[in-house]
Amino acid sequence: MGSHSSPQLPEQLPTPATPAGRDGLAALLADPGRAVVALDFDGTIAPIVPDPDQARAHPGAVPVLARLAPLLRAVVIVTGRPAELAARYGGFTGAAGLEHLVVLGAYGAERWDAATGEVTAPPSPPGVAAVRAELPGVLEKAGAPDGTWTEDKGRAVAVHTRRAADPAAAFELLREPLAELAERHSLSVEPGRFVLELRPPGMDKGVALTDFLRETGAGSVLYGGDDLGDLAAYDAVDRLRGEDVPGVLLCSGSEEVTALAERADLVVDGPAGVVGLLGELADVLAGRAG
Ligand SMILES: [Mg+2]
Repeated sequence: MGSHSSPQLPEQLPTPATPAGRDGLAALLADPGRAVVALDFDGTIAPIVPDPDQARAHPGAVPVLARLAPLLRAVVIVTGRPAELAARYGGFTGAAGLEHLVVLGAYGAERWDAATGEVTAPPSPPGVAAVRAELPGVLEKAGAPDGTWTEDKGRAVAVHTRRAADPAAAFELLREPLAELAERHSLSVEPGRFVLELRPPGMDKGVALTDFLRETGAGSVLYGGDDLGDLAAYDAVDRLRGEDVPGVLLCSGSEEVTALAERADLVVDGPAGVVGLLGELADVLAGRAG
């Protein structure tokens, strides 16, 4: 927490419930040019609907984000959806004011940039390539029985023992050597039913958000979400607060999920409440800029 225990906050804005949240909002207002506003899509800026393919951004979302974006370091959408789909359902494509909007989709495995209109996916992590290359030697040395086979999943490599004469024995035999191989290349082993999958440690909204904030050199962050998948992003903001990047945890409140509201600094009423709050934020920032 900063040196100020109770920063002066404009009365147009709701006051965050925690000291860390008040510091976060104060930091955002003090230096908006270094602030990032990061938002989940479904349930946060897009109302939840029975058919997920019918989900669209709240009608006020694009206008308010377009007002905010030029005042901030960046606005980013962080979603489990494919990035291009969220961009389309959000109505972000070609929207004036959102020329620099970024959508981190598939929990950060994909990225859509408004500037190019294109989706990029980072190449498979180098650890996977190394494991792929070393795996045959490791299996041979471990005495993997006939029937052991490997499945190349692109971003992960899986070793199956189901076809071995004794699948359980083969599974146990390979557990340790594969764990060592994974560890050497910073991968984790995800055990399944007669399968050991070697893959990069979990990509989640927290990893995606942290990487984006580092990339943009963010000095503060406001993260808004509505669901359990947003807890990883909340955790990331908590960690960053400890590293002198103040942050605000915003919750798009609903009757369905309460776990997030308990952790939030600010709880508003669904996507309409999020849009309302962002509008107040834009009013305050624009008023100062003008
Ligand atoms: Mg959501």
